[in-house]
Amino acid sequence: MKPVLLVTGASRGIGAATALLAARHGWAVAVNYSQNSAAAEAVVKQIKAESGQAVSIQADVGDEAQIKHLFSQVDAQLGRLTGFVNNAGVLDVAVRVDELSWERLQRMMRINVIGAMFCAREAILRMSTKHGGKGGSIVNLSSVAARMGAPGQYVDYAASKGAIDTFNAGLAKEVAAEGIRVNAVRPGIIDTDIHASGGIPDRAKTMAPMIPMLRPGSADEVAQSIVWLLSDAASYVTGANLDVTGGR
Ligand code: NAP
Repeated sequence: MKPVLLVTGASRGIGAATALLAARHGWAVAVNYSQNSAAAEAVVKQIKAESGQAVSIQADVGDEAQIKHLFSQVDAQLGRLTGFVNNAGVLDVAVRVDELSWERLQRMMRINVIGAMFCAREAILRMSTKHGGKGGSIVNLSSVAARMGAPGQYVDYAASKGAIDTFNAGLAKEVAAEGIRVNAVRPGIIDTDIHASGGIPDRAKTMAPMIPMLRPGSADEVAQSIVWLLSDAASYVTGANLDVTGGR
């Protein structure tokens, strides 16, 4: 039986690259998505074409009932998970803090912070030796924005990732004696669709001169770090926050 991994927001970008790479490393993968079922199915199809095991499961991680449904579907379709990647996250268009709306803040925090924490809760209920689990590994997606602040662009997004950093540090210590490792990956500018959702589709390329390595990262380069943190090769690593930023 393959170990079971859930990746939220795995229909494209970093989540999709992580699902594909993890499947190559022997995980049975639950590919969560919110809207784009065709893209999620394409990820599942590619994993199966490489003789891997995967299912796609629709759920909005900004909703308590849908998160519970997502995890119960993973239980039913693949079995008890030992890997979880808290990847789904949203950006918004560039504005100053004095232009932020209540609705925007609600959505950003509901998906990026509350949803991520509640997903981790569901994962712990399945992994913790305290709850009859066999342990496991959780990887949270932070962002370099958490330490740079993203002034004039999306301070709200940066702050949501700052919350993930603190959550990562505390949760890692809280469950370290229960067989669960918890780590974060902090990507820099990675060439995915997220920049289009922030209104600047070519941001990854235009920002290249500001990156010490003079190029954006790829989703696969972030996935490599995530899959390593999930693996037994990282067996003594917990509470870490790994920059994958090209030096930024
Ligand atoms: P992306 O290309 O925009 O993909 C986002 C994924 O999340 C999609 O699969 C999307 O599914 C899913 N998603 C969005 N809202 C969701 C919700 N409410 N419930 C469930 N799934 C949802 O993003 P990405 O660039 O790969 O980013 C992945 C993570 O890395 C995010 O947490 C992001 O903040 C972080 N990150 C990215 C960068 C970067 O430069 N790209 C840098 C730092 C950190 P659908 O398509 O089905 O809606």
